[in-house]
Amino acid sequence: MRVLIVSDVHANLRALDAVLEAAGSVDAVWHLGDVVGYGPDPDAVVDRLRSRGAVGVRGNHDAAALGGREIEQFNAYARRAMEWTRDAIREETRAWLADLPERLMIGQFTLVHGSPRDPIWEYISSGPVARANLSAFETAYCLHGHTHVPAAFRDDDGRLTSIAPAGGSSLVLDSRRVLLNPGSVGQPRDGIATASYLVLDLERRETRWRRAAYDIGATQAAMTALGLPPPLVARLKHGV
Ligand code: ZN
Repeated sequence: MRVLIVSDVHANLRALDAVLEAAGSVDAVWHLGDVVGYGPDPDAVVDRLRSRGAVGVRGNHDAAALGGREIEQFNAYARRAMEWTRDAIREETRAWLADLPERLMIGQFTLVHGSPRDPIWEYISSGPVARANLSAFETAYCLHGHTHVPAAFRDDDGRLTSIAPAGGSSLVLDSRRVLLNPGSVGQPRDGIATASYLVLDLERRETRWRRAAYDIGATQAAMTALGLPPPLVARLKHGV
């Protein structure tokens, strides 16, 4: 069974479609939240994920889109984009977002947006935070997003191994506990502008980070046409 893992799609339909095509045939799609926010296509992204039967969890932007106070933590640009998102989304989109749980367990995997101990907000981007979270889930492995940077943190007999995967990197899943971050589809922040995602092969017990090129200019043009903040438009080209 092959599973496509996407996170932080952020209403970027062109990036999501490029990933769905590049990933090839998969048996399931799991998402790690922040489906909306920042980007120009919140309804279309939710429609696409629904049509692929995707299951997943709620991110801080998804919570904010539902009217949550999460918006108060956003910087000025994110807040403006979120106000636009709140006005733009259809009732159906809102209902789909409202149904997303904060945490989901599927087989040996726990899915969260931020971290297993703080699913909506905590960023796992340092060794000490990763170490504290490696014991905070009940399954063997945890999938999370939120940082927009592909990463893995593994417990190697009490020592923390931090892995910065490049596109094409793979990791075998064994008895060691691991936190796996696919990076972001819709707004990567690792200095590479292409969409980042993960493919999980459950038979081979292997996970592979991959990148997909997409028409960044078309997403930028759509954002500009909608009056979304120029710094959010510009950053897509630089992957920051
Ligand atoms: Zn995000």
